[in-house]
Parts: sequence; C-alpha cells; structure tokens
Amino acid sequence: MSADHDTMINPGPDMQFQHFLGLGEFRLQQCSSCNEYVFYPRVLCPHCGSDELEWQPVSGKGVVYSTTVVRRREEKGGPYNVAIIELEEGARMMSRVEGIAAEQVTIGAAVSARIIDDAKTPGRKVIVFDPQNAGGGNN
Ligand SMILES: [Zn+2]
Repeated sequence: MSADHDTMINPGPDMQFQHFLGLGEFRLQQCSSCNEYVFYPRVLCPHCGSDELEWQPVSGKGVVYSTTVVRRREEKGGPYNVAIIELEEGARMMSRVEGIAAEQVTIGAAVSARIIDDAKTPGRKVIVFDPQNAGGGNN
C-alpha cells in the first residue's frame, strides 16, 4: 500500500492543480461547454461529460456548507474541523476551517481560502479556509 497510488493512476489534473498551488494560485477547472466549475480536478466534466476543462483563477471565497468536529486526543493536537466549503464559483470542496475552535465553525459562515504546505505529505500543498469576518464590519 502506498499513499502515491491515486496520483500514479491519474497524474494529470491533480498534478496541474498542485502545480498552480505551488505558484500560490488557487485555480479550479471550468467547463467550456456548460460553464460549471469542477472540483476535484478531473478529466471529464461531471455535469455534461465534456473534456474541455480550463484552469481558471478563483476568488477563494466561499461559505461553510457542512462542518464536523473530529475528536482527537489533546496530545495529538486536540479536536479539529472537517468542512465542506461551497465556493463562490459553485464548486464544493472538502477542507477545514482554521483560526477558530473546531466547534465554532458554523454552516453558512463566510470563509476565504489559504494555501499551506500539507503537513502529511512533504512538497504537497493543500487549501484551508479562514473565517472572513474575523475583523468584523467588512462583508
Ligand atoms: Zn460541463
């Protein structure tokens, strides 16, 4: 068993996604046929089956669509949050919200994306989200 198994089978779209993250750019595929945004990266549009997917920069803004607190022992870092974020562009992605306690993440809360190093896989980047209204007053 190897963690690389998935990327070995399908190196294309995921590697491109990682490539942009490495440049500090958050991009999603957008279908040229039906204009839907697509996540996770793939070869065919899940909405219409077209293979004309183009990488477009996205705002990184979204709202919490669902949230779960995953219990973890304190010595391993304490509980953490797993959330599905619905992006402004319409795609949903599984991620987590940082900067506030895991149980304070609420459905519908405005968040914005940040690219960080994947703690589990050196050289890989992941996207996490921060609450947008931390300072208050600038919606
Ligand atoms: Zn499509």
